[in-house]
Amino acid sequence: MIIEIPSFQKTLLNWFARYSRDLPWRRSYLPYHIWISEIMLQQTQMERGTAYFERWIKRFPDIASIAEASEEEILKYWEGLGYYSRARNIHKAAQLLMKKNGGQLPADRTSLLAMPGIGKYTAAAIMSLAFNKDVPLVDANIERLFARLFNIETPIKDKGQQTFIWRNAKEILPPGQARNFNQALMELGALVCRPRNPNCTVCPVHNHCQSLTLGVVDERPVPGKTTDTIRIEMVTGFLQKGGAIFIQKRPPNGVWANLWEFPGGRIEAGETPAEALVREYMEETEMNIGNLSKITTVKHSYTRYRVTLHCYTCFLLNGPQRPVLHEAQEYRWITPLDLHRFAFPAGHRKLIEFMRKKKLL
Ligand code: SF4
Repeated sequence: MIIEIPSFQKTLLNWFARYSRDLPWRRSYLPYHIWISEIMLQQTQMERGTAYFERWIKRFPDIASIAEASEEEILKYWEGLGYYSRARNIHKAAQLLMKKNGGQLPADRTSLLAMPGIGKYTAAAIMSLAFNKDVPLVDANIERLFARLFNIETPIKDKGQQTFIWRNAKEILPPGQARNFNQALMELGALVCRPRNPNCTVCPVHNHCQSLTLGVVDERPVPGKTTDTIRIEMVTGFLQKGGAIFIQKRPPNGVWANLWEFPGGRIEAGETPAEALVREYMEETEMNIGNLSKITTVKHSYTRYRVTLHCYTCFLLNGPQRPVLHEAQEYRWITPLDLHRFAFPAGHRKLIEFMRKKKLL
């Protein structure tokens, strides 16, 4: 440890008191608010996460209201945030808390880790931010900050460096001030020690920073292994019949579990998007479709996939008019006005938004 701890703590806490952002969960520090905000902000930018948080809390003001809601509604309020297992886990955890803990979040690590969807990071966030327990916390902002502050010379995700980072987060934590101190570290990483162009000239802890002293700020953090992205071409069809639209509910397990969709799938080698759509409809529903008309192409990403989704309108031809479902648990014929009641994966939601904008719905 090279930084001078008491001076570092004091400087950082003063800076946080002056410059921290006014975020809705910071107004009360209710454990429930901290829990939801921490789960929502994983893989989500702050501005977007805040908007979703406010909408969520308005509809679900407490754990009981989540437990009582249907999974369908929970997914609808999560729609667009992705990683839907997070929403399903919140729902399950809320039901568990109502049964076993009077609708309250526990304050100890073992009980928190026993809840669906709560791992080491979220448990530490709830304990330190909601209950102000002396527990260290490390997120991506703190990892980057520490990589620069302590001049970490190998990738921060390496096991040895993770141990080093968590150990230092614990060592520099001022007793009784975990709530403000952990947030101050995260806030400094988010606002000043940013991924690109860290603003060292205004950094309150610049005189503790080893990579600044050594002139290697631009080389920290050292990049780790990158995962290759995979590009895939998919197709989907907006099937219409007498003013109604066909939607089906995906299976309860696997990708986008329990979300609704328009049938479709991957385009196979040698197929045109239109041929793939006719095949997919037949395989998934045994319905024969035709009169295809291209609507648009939307692009979206999930995990490491970059998807190009070709979108068509289509109609039923001869043959069975009722679907036989092979890759869905139920189906509906709905009016365009009812579309807002169902949660769809990102690509299909973008298609609906496009059609609304173009007044095609
Ligand atoms: Fe980050 Fe620069 Fe501050 Fe060092 S001086 S902690 S690199 S912002």
